Amino acid sequence: MLSNSLVELDRRHLVHPVSSFRGHEARGVRVLTGGQGATVSDAEGRRLIDGFAGLWCVNAGYGHESVVAAAAEQMRQLPYATGYFDLGAEAPILLAAALAERSPGDLDHVYFTLGGSDAVDSTIRFVRYYWHARGQPDRDQFISVAQGYHGSSSLGAGLTALPAFHDGFGLPYPWQHKISSHYTYRNPVRGDQAVIDASVAELRAKIEEIGAERVAAFYVEPIQGSGGVLVPPMGWVKAMREVCAEYGVLFVADEVITGFGRTGPIFACEEEGIVPDLMTTAKGLTSGYVPMGAVFLSDHVYDTIADGAGAKAIGHGFTYSAHPVSAAVALEVLALYEGGLFENGRRMGARLMAGLEGLRDHPLVGDVRGRGMLAAVELVVDKAEKTPLPASVQPATRLFDRAWEEGLILRAFAQGVLGYAPPLCCTEDEIDAIVARTRRVLDRTLEDEDVRAAL
Ligand code: PMP
Repeated sequence: MLSNSLVELDRRHLVHPVSSFRGHEARGVRVLTGGQGATVSDAEGRRLIDGFAGLWCVNAGYGHESVVAAAAEQMRQLPYATGYFDLGAEAPILLAAALAERSPGDLDHVYFTLGGSDAVDSTIRFVRYYWHARGQPDRDQFISVAQGYHGSSSLGAGLTALPAFHDGFGLPYPWQHKISSHYTYRNPVRGDQAVIDASVAELRAKIEEIGAERVAAFYVEPIQGSGGVLVPPMGWVKAMREVCAEYGVLFVADEVITGFGRTGPIFACEEEGIVPDLMTTAKGLTSGYVPMGAVFLSDHVYDTIADGAGAKAIGHGFTYSAHPVSAAVALEVLALYEGGLFENGRRMGARLMAGLEGLRDHPLVGDVRGRGMLAAVELVVDKAEKTPLPASVQPATRLFDRAWEEGLILRAFAQGVLGYAPPLCCTEDEIDAIVARTRRVLDRTLEDEDVRAAL
C-alpha cells in the first residue's frame, strides 16, 4: 500500500499513544516497514540505526529467525492456555523457573502480565493484599520518586511523576506521595554522598510525616528512564532500600527498562547488591517481539499472600497472563542474551558511554550520563548556568526530526535531553555512527537562529 494512503488512514483512524492527537494529525505518521539487527527501514526506503530499540525494548535487535520460529512453533502446537482453573502450559512454567533462577535473592515467584503498566498495577494490588493478609490494612499509602515513570494504568499513572500523565486525569490519588529525584545534574545538593544523604533524609521524613504504620511501599527505578535517563549515584538505591527495611516498608524495584541487560547485568539491582521485595520487568523480557511483563514476588511476600488467602481465590488476573507464545519468545530471547548478547551489550555500552563523553566539548552539551546501553545527553545554551534550550526549540519534534534526517532514531525528551537505548546487538561501527550522527545533530542545532540568540 502506498505510504501516503497509509498516512491518511492513520490520521483518520489510529489513535497514537502519548501524543498530541492534533499535532500527530498535522505531522502524519512515519511508517516503519522492516528491521534487521540494530537497523530499521521506513516506507520511503530509508535505513536508520534504532538508537532507542523501539521504546527501549528491542534489546536483542530485529530479525532473529530463531525467535520467529519459537513463536510459530508455539502457535502451531498450542497458541493459548489459560492459567485459570489450575491449567497451564509448558513455556510459561519453564520461563518462570528460568527467571526465578536468575533473579536477585528470593524473588522466586513470577506473575506474568502483558506489559509494564499492568505489572506495576499488579504490584499495587499485591502490596495491598499483602498488608491485609498481615492484619495491617491501614498500610495503604504509597511513595515514589519525582520524575519517575511507572506506567500509564489508572493506578500506576499516579505513581508516575510526570505532569502529562496526571493533568486532566485527576491524578495522583491522595494516597500517592513523592520524594524528590536524585537528578544529580540539576540537584542543588552537590556530591554523590550528599545526594544520597539528602534522599535518605527526605524518604525518612516523608515516611514519618505520613506515619510509618501507614506506608505500604516505596517504588524506585534503578535508573529513571522516561524522566530523562536520570542516573543515581551508586549506592543511592541501596540506601533507599535500607530505609524501607528499617521502617518495614515494602521496596518495589521497577526494572521495566533496566532489566535484561540494558545497564550491563541481567537486572540493575544486581549492581547495588540489593534484593527488592517485589520487582517489575517487561520490554527486554521478550525484546518487544510480542507483549509480556512480569512481576517478581519474594518468598515472604508470596507466602504472606498465600497464607492470608488460604483456600480463597486471589481476585487478580488477566486472560493473557502467562501467554504461551510470549513465554516461548521470552525463552528464546533469553537464550540469545546468554549466548552472547549480554556480553556484547556490556562491551558496546562501554563504547557508547565513551563516545558520548567525547561530546562534552560541544557548546550545547551540559551533561552526559548513563550506564551500559542506557544513556542521555542533556543540552543547554549556557554550561555554567545550565540554561535549558529556548522553549521555541521543541526538542521532541525538532531534534527528533533532525536525528531522523541523519539516519538515527533517538528519544528527544521535551526538556532538551537526548536519550539512547540501542539494541545490545549493535556493532562497533553502529555505536560510532550513533555518536557521529548525534554530533551532526548538535552542530546543526547550534546554527539555529533561536539557539544562537540564546547563547
Ligand atoms: N515502568 C517503567 C519504568 C517504564 O519505563 C515503563 C514504560 N516505559 C512502564 C513501567 C510501563 O510499561 P508499558 O509501557 O509496557 O506498559
